[in-house]
Amino acid sequence: MTARLRPRCAACDRALPKGRYRLCVAGCGARLCRTPRIPRCTDLHAGHCPHFEPLEAS
Ligand SMILES: [Zn+2]
Ligand SMILES: [Zn+2]
Repeated sequence: MTARLRPRCAACDRALPKGRYRLCVAGCGARLCRTPRIPRCTDLHAGHCPHFEPLEAS
């Protein structure tokens, strides 16, 4: 039995269709949905991303 790991969204944990995801823009390697639902998974992930650096609010 070969159970290949299916990619899941790092934010909402939905299974991602093959090739239909985007990587975290901060470069942590997390895979995220490309669907335009609100809030976006890329934004949700940013709150937990170990690589994400919030812009300085000055
Ligand atoms: Zn998602
Ligand atoms: Zn990330």
